[in-house]
Amino acid sequence: MKLLEDRIIQTGRIINNEILKVDNFLNHQIDVNLINEIGKDIASIYPNANKVVTIETSGIAIAYATSLALNNCPLVFAKKQASKITSNNNYTAKVKSFTKSVTYDISIDKSYLNKGDKIVIVDDFLANGNAGVGLVELIRQSGAEILGFASAIEKGFQGGRENIERLGIKVYSCAIIKAFKDNKPVF
Ligand code: 5GP
Repeated sequence: MKLLEDRIIQTGRIINNEILKVDNFLNHQIDVNLINEIGKDIASIYPNANKVVTIETSGIAIAYATSLALNNCPLVFAKKQASKITSNNNYTAKVKSFTKSVTYDISIDKSYLNKGDKIVIVDDFLANGNAGVGLVELIRQSGAEILGFASAIEKGFQGGRENIERLGIKVYSCAIIKAFKDNKPVF
């Protein structure tokens, strides 16, 4: 998506050759117009989805825009919770954080995932794919159908796509960064 690539080039900052900071339009200040275009792009890839699932916090804006473009279909976000809180009413999975070196539990109330659901999973970034893999594991407990995964920005050199595709899940990203070179993204 050229609009997104241009914005990454204009305002993104690369930290330690590993992390892309896009606080200018996605992770702190949100450019609603750009996020809506991202949502439309994702919806065009998964037009048959009838539910959008993401993980709090940064995935929610992308998921909102995707839901809007899919005729306001329901949007559910997994909650991150302190470990050891288990409930029979929740589906849960473990996720290793890319940006913080911790593993946390994610959960979704069972009443929000159902067998007839056709789900697109979305997130802001795809790095190692841990968030995506955790969401796939969680959703599969419900018997809902997963049509695919979508991220706004994929760092294609960190293995996330392979880790999600290995589970038989299609992966789409609006912008794919092949590498960071001389402190600049290469698409
Ligand atoms: P993964 O689970 O694919 O390893 O990492 C994805 C999650 O980590 C995303 O939900 C995102 O919040 C965070 N993340 C990973 N890489 C980056 C990055 O380069 N920049 C930002 N802002 N977040 C990232």
